Amino acid sequence: LERQLQHADRLAKIGQFAAGVAHELNEPLANILGFAQLAEQTPGLPAQAMKDLDSIIKAALHSREVIKKLMIFGRQVPLRKTLIDLNQVIRDSLYFIEMSASRGKVEVRMNLAEGLPTIMADPQHLKQVIVNLVVNGIHAMPGGGVLTIETLSFKDDVYLLVSDSGVGMTPDVLRQIFNPFFTTKDVDQGTGLGLAVVHGIVHAHGGVIEVESEPGRGTRFEITFPCGGSGREMNPAMDDK
Ligand code: ADP
Repeated sequence: LERQLQHADRLAKIGQFAAGVAHELNEPLANILGFAQLAEQTPGLPAQAMKDLDSIIKAALHSREVIKKLMIFGRQVPLRKTLIDLNQVIRDSLYFIEMSASRGKVEVRMNLAEGLPTIMADPQHLKQVIVNLVVNGIHAMPGGGVLTIETLSFKDDVYLLVSDSGVGMTPDVLRQIFNPFFTTKDVDQGTGLGLAVVHGIVHAHGGVIEVESEPGRGTRFEITFPCGGSGREMNPAMDDK
């Protein structure tokens, strides 16, 4: 618990810092983008200058995406917890899941438990958890594969399981995946914030996240939520304050 609290505290500080930096960079970036787009309209521009401007605009657009993610990561959005049905949150994300999967030649298998107890949670934040896990799973299966989303209840807990048949992770990677900015992806593919955000949200709900992974076989995320919100809540990065 001590380690979790330390992690949450560090996450909150990094989040504030990241949001601050993102905010500072936003305006100069808007200028770079705006003026480059203006310059592109100049009549009779040499082809090379046109190409250079295109590169500037592409890089600026990418930076804008990164800044957006930093802002989301760092924002102190109050959690709006209500009693919700986890299955419903998954169904509400289905369109996104299926769109992403079909682009990656990934088959989606769902196994949602009937009569799942409700949990005390913020549906928007849970959606973010599902989306981040699904996107990572699909990324891990560049040649296609199977993504499984499961829910079940056991004793006083509700489980969300997301697994893929993808590339898996070495123990060395596995150890670092929840660290903010840790990524094994190219700069324009990953920010290393997805799982840090997932971790923050799960802990803000009094939940626990566990991962099993094997290189070449796949990865399985198991998230446990206390049903009905049994008071096991903490106050990390994204909680209301
Ligand atoms: P990003 O996806 O931007 O790199 P994340 O925090 O979401 O950031 O993930 C961190 C790293 O964890 C990824 O770069 C990848 O190496 C690893 N990872 C996450 N999910 C999976 C997965 N389902 N299969 C294999 N590796 C994964």
